[in-house]
Amino acid sequence: MKIGFVSERDAGEPRIAVVPPVVERYRKAGIDVVVARGIGKHLGLTDAAFEAAGATLVDAGAVPGSCQVMARLRTPGDDEIAAIPAGTLHISFLDPFTETERIKRMAAQGILAASMQMIPRSTYAQKMDALSSQANLGGYVAVLLGATRSARIMPMMTTPAGTIKPMAVLVIGVGVAGLQAIATAKRLGARVSAFDTRPVVEEQVKSLGAKFVKIDIGETGQTKDGYAKELTPEQMKMQRDGMAKVCAQSDLIITTAQVFGRPAPRIITEEMLAAMHPGTIVVDMAVESGGNVEGSRKDAEVDHNGVIILGHANLPGRVPVDASAMYAMNVFHLVQEFWDAEAGAIRLDAGNEIVEACLLTKDGAVLSKPGS
Ligand code: NAD
Repeated sequence: MKIGFVSERDAGEPRIAVVPPVVERYRKAGIDVVVARGIGKHLGLTDAAFEAAGATLVDAGAVPGSCQVMARLRTPGDDEIAAIPAGTLHISFLDPFTETERIKRMAAQGILAASMQMIPRSTYAQKMDALSSQANLGGYVAVLLGATRSARIMPMMTTPAGTIKPMAVLVIGVGVAGLQAIATAKRLGARVSAFDTRPVVEEQVKSLGAKFVKIDIGETGQTKDGYAKELTPEQMKMQRDGMAKVCAQSDLIITTAQVFGRPAPRIITEEMLAAMHPGTIVVDMAVESGGNVEGSRKDAEVDHNGVIILGHANLPGRVPVDASAMYAMNVFHLVQEFWDAEAGAIRLDAGNEIVEACLLTKDGAVLSKPGS
């Protein structure tokens, strides 16, 4: 079997789905690897390094026709889809809720489209969970972005020239990204508070040495996959009322709140922004799915009466070398679920929960998924 890799055409996506050490892993598993020439040049990963690891280099246009499995970061464009032969297993991020037209096109072309977003959040699937590997890096980058944009320092400093108070950081939404944001801000010496609607998070927040902000919003909870349940409008209001004071007392706010398959909850309103002191930095990590902060704009910095809202998308793409290394390992482990080593072919086992969860198209049709 052969697996092929191409890079993204979009300059805003520097991550790639394979790195030389992972090429070696495929070769050891008996899988041949084809990569597009120049795939890692912008990351300092030379064609020679890919070749030395055992990959065959071809022009990007020749990748689709030369492999049974293709992997990349993002959904292919229409013309790229047209070039992928029927029967190819295509692995990428692919959102079943918003990219429905693309998915239909891939189905019509006979492509087996597998989505990295749909991999279950189970202990077994952790090694292929790209949402987690990338969100983890995103949480780290969000804190660094906020820290460098702030006119203040994070740690407490006691010096002959006076004592500087530690920065007050608030993290809203404590999933994978939020936990890493808390850990990163703590390492930099900030005083960190955090809030999430899932009650189980309190213990995790405390174990990182941060304070959990308690707000009574009634019955909340999580789905069987650990995702937050959507709040009612009344609960959202209770949350905003409860958060307004702690937001006003914070120097840096990182928002990461998401509800699976739904637009991100709008947590910070204009009224709450107006109560913050000038110089406060708000990093809206949910900007790509609608935003947690009123007025945040994708890939823009918004100045709201001195409060700076950072809406940069693709934060893991700002550390593309490590993000690519982690994503490449996630893809490698996912491929093992589809790979029948004895037969030397792709296997679409009914009964494999990973395959069932992430395969979105088969036999020319779109497979229905919970919630889509
Ligand atoms: P996510 O990106 O879907 O959401 C981020 C956070 O926002 C979540 O913690 C969610 O509870 C929170 N949130 C939603 N609405 C909110 C609101 N109104 N106010 C404040 N916070 C709000 O989350 P994620 O990082 O993808 O993690 C989802 C779940 O999957 C978590 O339970 C996580 O622990 C779990 N998980 C499990 C594994 C595993 O066991 N292998 C791996 C990764 C994640």
